[in-house]
Formats: sequence, C-alpha cells, structure tokens
Amino acid sequence: MAVLSIVVPCYNEREALPIFYDEIKRVLSGMDCGYELIFVDDGSTDGTAEVLEGFAAKDESVVYLGLSRNFGKEAAMYAGLSNIRGDYAAVMDCDLQDPPSMLPEMLAAVSSGEYSMAAARRVDRHGEPPIRSFFARRFYGFMNRICESEIVDGARDFRVMTRDVADIVVSMKEHNRFSKGIFSWVGFRTKWVPYVNHERVAGKTKWSFWHLFGYAIDGIINFSHVPLTIASWFGLFMTFFAFVTELVVIVRRLLFDEPVAGWASLVCIIVFIGGIQLFFLGTIGNYIAKLYLESKGRPHYIIEKSSRDGIKRVG
Ligand code: UDP
Ligand code: MG
Repeated sequence: MAVLSIVVPCYNEREALPIFYDEIKRVLSGMDCGYELIFVDDGSTDGTAEVLEGFAAKDESVVYLGLSRNFGKEAAMYAGLSNIRGDYAAVMDCDLQDPPSMLPEMLAAVSSGEYSMAAARRVDRHGEPPIRSFFARRFYGFMNRICESEIVDGARDFRVMTRDVADIVVSMKEHNRFSKGIFSWVGFRTKWVPYVNHERVAGKTKWSFWHLFGYAIDGIINFSHVPLTIASWFGLFMTFFAFVTELVVIVRRLLFDEPVAGWASLVCIIVFIGGIQLFFLGTIGNYIAKLYLESKGRPHYIIEKSSRDGIKRVG
C-alpha cells in the first residue's frame, strides 16, 4: 500500500492543533493509503511542543520534529520534506485553511500517474483584509511579468507530490526559499484544485502586512534578475536624456545667447538622480546580500528533538 507523508509546519499553534489532528485523522481513516504525519515544531513558545509530543506518544503514525529555534515556515517545510519516508508527500498548514478534505482528490490526481503534483488554489480571498488582497493581486501580476516561473494567483503551499518531486525540491539547497517559486520552477504536470478560502480555525496569523511585503520582495529577487535589468536600462535612458538636454543648452547658448537660469531646477534634478541611484544601489545590495547568505552555506534547519530515530537532524 502506498504511503503518504504529510508535512505540517507549526509555529505557536497549540489551539489549532487538536482540531487539525481530529480532522486530518478523520479524513485519513477514509482514505485507502498508509500515512505518516510529520509535525515540525518551528521553535514555538506556547506549548505546541507538548501538544505534539502528546500526539506522538499515543499515535504511531505521528512523527514529531522540534527545531532548535524559529527558522520560518520555509525551513520547517524543508526539515519535514527532508525526513519523509512515504511514496507521496503532502505539505499543509495546521490552521485548517488548507482543508484536509481535499487530500483524497489531490492524492488521486497524483497517484493516477497523470500528474506529479496537485496544488490547492484559492478562488477567492474571503476573510482577508481588502488591502492585503489588493497588494497580493498586484504582486502576482508583477511577478508573472518579470519571472521565468509562473506563480499562479491564489496558489497555496498546500500540495501533494510524488516522492520524486519531493526529493528534487529537497535537493534544491538554496537558502532563500520561496516555495511557490520552487514548486513552479521544477516543472512537472500540476493539477490545480480550486477551493473557497477558509478563515483560520484558531490562533493568529504569523504574517503581518510588512512581513508579507518582505516575502514578496524576496520572491521577486530570488526568481528574477529583471530589477537589475531595469536599473541598466534606466541608467541608459538617463544618460541619453542628459545628452539631449546638454545639446539643447549648448545650442541655446551659441545661437541665441540665452544663459540657462534656475538653480532650483538643477537641485531637483540632482536630488532626483541621487535618489534613483540610491534606489538601484539598494536593489543591487539586496542581490549581494542574498549571495552572501548563500555563500555561507549554513544549514536550513536544526532539529533538536524528535520522536523518531534515524532522522536527518541538520540539513
Ligand atoms: N509557520 C511556521 N513558522 C513560522 C510561521 C508560520 O511553521 O515562522 C506555520 C504556521 O504554524 C502555519 C503555517 O506556517 O501552519 C502558515 O502560517 P499562517 O497560518 O500564520 O499564515 P497564513 O495562512 O495567514 O498565510
Ligand atoms: Mg493560515
């Protein structure tokens, strides 16, 4: 019988976890496959670890991995995927925003052999602050214009994939992980399963607006060189523009003997160009900072405690 490994990153999810656990067990008991539930505690401080240890103690199918601190959701997913033993892997949140009831359909798509991945796609953003939805839409529009990989609007990290795909994703060691981009970059046939957004069942979201904004910028920098190209083209344009205005000034001076007046406009131009230069310098700096982080080659995660032997503790 095929085994499905379900990776669940958890950060301060004490309240949501028992509800999630009951729901996923209910769904899994109706499915015709073996399974392991890999809960990754991402350095929670609210007693999540105790809840998870409790699950692992009473349920053999539960694997508990406790990271040594908060490494972030991407690292937690990576830690989980690095330690799967199943033939298929799933990744999902534990706040029931990724409905476990979709698992059978997603697994069926992948196990039929027709698809290598099945991913949930929100068809609305019900329950989300309008300003967040607005920026999210703009982000996906912009991202798809400038990136080589397509990032589907509303795509969640909720996915089922074959073991092959999971292994390939784990073999991508880049530090700056943007899963939606990575899943799209690796290719393979993906089935998109639409669903209506659910609000989180308990607890609070870990993502503030600015947090998400930073994540979006990271996504762009990790998957596109277009900002650097924009900088070059803009520099070229400014040079051309300066050349033409210079010609105009010379002609006015020589032919019409008109001196050019106005230091205010000069200051404005200098400040404007200074601003643009600093902006692009910052953009380049962002790429260099990423490069610096990658070059250190530090592990993505460190597992401090686990309920299973023989796991990959650092990776
Ligand atoms: N999460 C995590 N580490 C973090 C932040 C979040 O493992 O540093 C987990 C969290 O427990 C949840 C999932 O990532 O299972 C998604 O987080 P959340 O629901 O807060 O994000 P949202 O659904 O609001 O985008
Ligand atoms: Mg959530």
